[in-house]
Amino acid sequence: MTDDLKPWGPEERQAWRDRQTIQRSYQDDVVTRIKALPKGEFDVEQYGALSHDPERYPLFCVKSKDWNADAPVVVVTGGVHGYEDSGVTGCLRFMEEEAPAYHGKVNFVFFPCVSPFAYEINHRWNAKADDPNRHFHDKGTAEEAQLLMAKVKSLKLHFNAAVDLHETNNRDIGLTIERRARDGQRVEPGDDYIPEGYYLVLPSRADLPLAHKVIEEVRKVTPICADKEILGYPAENGIIVLDDLKTLCQDFMRQYADVGMTTEIYPEKCSRDECERAQIATIRTAVKWTMGK
Ligand SMILES: [Zn+2]
Repeated sequence: MTDDLKPWGPEERQAWRDRQTIQRSYQDDVVTRIKALPKGEFDVEQYGALSHDPERYPLFCVKSKDWNADAPVVVVTGGVHGYEDSGVTGCLRFMEEEAPAYHGKVNFVFFPCVSPFAYEINHRWNAKADDPNRHFHDKGTAEEAQLLMAKVKSLKLHFNAAVDLHETNNRDIGLTIERRARDGQRVEPGDDYIPEGYYLVLPSRADLPLAHKVIEEVRKVTPICADKEILGYPAENGIIVLDDLKTLCQDFMRQYADVGMTTEIYPEKCSRDECERAQIATIRTAVKWTMGK
């Protein structure tokens, strides 16, 4: 039997893009909120724009004002996967509701929506049908990742903690089938597994102590995934260590950080508010840890 599976070329990728529709507005939902942040608390910097429509997709980095060189630095990324809503809105809400309380005590760097085209089409992939969260390495080509990496390098900062905000939802079953098709692969047993509850992904086993504290706090907000294995990795207390990929946002950030993590919230059985509060509980726990509390 011949194997007729082959990866998508430029035509199939374009056909995929032509099937996508704009479902919501990055300007209305995200840029408006960034621009409304209190000027006394934050500096907003544009670090680039998506090349296929720079007017529509400017990229923003938001930093604490009155930078205190003696205080810890925490970096938070949202919307590396644009369809994972609470990654974007959880980051925005933390900036609006909680970050000002740490003025002068913790320095923040926020990237609230790394992949705004994906936010608008409500999908994982960028306009070239690439997953930005597999391109955070030197040979990566997704511009969402390249632009973020260039900005982070230019900041010349050391981060005391790096938090990347994500969700794992039931749609991921269909999106995995789509990814297998794009990459010329057969669907595998286990592709339809979805962890039903919050879990944390770590770039290094060294990050486990903070991760366990995060789980304790998030458990007060939303259920933690109790599975003994998550996505093929042994899980303990809802935590898995993915130290073998090296292509994720968390892997890139961890090079500049004492500790890193990726949140994965299960939004199917809880409200948007609960998802956002779980994201915020994660950030807050990391922030307090950097302050030694
Ligand atoms: Zn994600």
